[in-house]
Amino acid sequence: MSIYVNKNNGFQQTETVSRECPHCGAHAQLLPLATPSYEALMDARPGNVGLVYRCAACNEPRFLRAAVRAFEPDRVELSANLAEVERAKERFQYSYLPANLEGLLSEAFACYTAGCHNAFASMCRRTVQTALASLDGSARRRWQDQLRDVLRIGEIDENVSAAIEAVLFADDSAPPQISADQSAVLIEVIKDMLYQSYVRTAKLQAAMKMRRYFAGEAAHKVTSIEGRSRRESA
Ligand SMILES: [Zn+2]
Repeated sequence: MSIYVNKNNGFQQTETVSRECPHCGAHAQLLPLATPSYEALMDARPGNVGLVYRCAACNEPRFLRAAVRAFEPDRVELSANLAEVERAKERFQYSYLPANLEGLLSEAFACYTAGCHNAFASMCRRTVQTALASLDGSARRRWQDQLRDVLRIGEIDENVSAAIEAVLFADDSAPPQISADQSAVLIEVIKDMLYQSYVRTAKLQAAMKMRRYFAGEAAHKVTSIEGRSRRESA
């Protein structure tokens, strides 16, 4: 794909661009909304420019940055490699978490979205510590076992696995330095652990409660029909 700002200020893109939208979550087309003028670009000759698109699904603005490739007599060519200035927000079913955990986890995700991977790692440890403090004594071992299972099933290599386990559970030493790649594994792991312990547990309990309720209703109906038929035959 090539992107041009033509001398007549026509913004020209040879292909459409679709991305996941941080506002509505849809994988939707980006439509150009505010693009730089040819004159302003020729005048200032910046290395990078900002572009505003809108999401075709929800109409919210999307901010992107592109490098300038060439200043030509009749057009300016921009790089097709559009960098998103605003990254997609991580989602979680926060309503299942206790309030203190919800606050910590959403701050952890904000660090991840901002690309602050070590801040993210520290917030993950704090989230785990806070969660374990309010769970039973065996929760720590369960969470560690669960973590090892997830890492093993995902075939995550040993060094990354060791770093992630140290981030989350080695409370007696500072968390190790985390790279962007390790951070991408860490976010999936922490989501999985909290999902298992809070979201899935709550959903299962609700399902069992519902089942018991309907079982009780059914038993009640059977009793009352039997009672009536006994009365009728008497
Ligand atoms: Zn959208």
